[in-house]
Amino acid sequence: APLVGVLALQGDVPEHLTALAAAGARPCPVRRPGELAAVDALVIPGGESTTMAKLAGIFGLLEPLRERIGAGMPVYGSCAGMIMLADRVLDGRAGQETVGGIDMTVRRNAFGRQNESFEAAVDLAGVAGGPVEGVFIRAPWAESTGAAVEVLAEHGGHAVAVRQGALLATAFHPELTGDHRVHALFTEMARGVVAAHR
Ligand code: GLN
Repeated sequence: APLVGVLALQGDVPEHLTALAAAGARPCPVRRPGELAAVDALVIPGGESTTMAKLAGIFGLLEPLRERIGAGMPVYGSCAGMIMLADRVLDGRAGQETVGGIDMTVRRNAFGRQNESFEAAVDLAGVAGGPVEGVFIRAPWAESTGAAVEVLAEHGGHAVAVRQGALLATAFHPELTGDHRVHALFTEMARGVVAAHR
């Protein structure tokens, strides 16, 4: 099974570790460049993207993350993780850094204060067996996407799940639902890349 790290600086790390194990991956937390170098793929969890980016800088992970993504490592980001994978951010803190990799502009906290948290059934391309339960917590959306980006799901006319090559992002939190199909999809993406490099 692929060794799938979870960026463990901030956010809902344990929930992703549990979901990955249930989906058939070998999960492990990643806090240091050496740990990042050892994994086949990585999950960037939900949390708070400005804090996460700041910590990634302090821990010396921003450049190694960009290098691994450039070399084709599969990465899945949920919510704050989706923001981290975006090339451009609207409504970010001044100077907010991201890792980038997905040619999209995300809007932070896009669904607005009155709807800080809600659940909705989301039809997700590539996931069979009916819609997934989308848990949206101060969630972003992708306001615009480049030609290489495939929109996998929309909610209210806004892109809330996208894929570009080995990079997958959802505005919602499947790790909070007990439904492991999104983590299974990502584990399959990781398995494919590992097999191709063997
Ligand atoms: N609003 C948060 C941010 O901007 C993301 C929220 C989440 O991950 N649930 O980083």
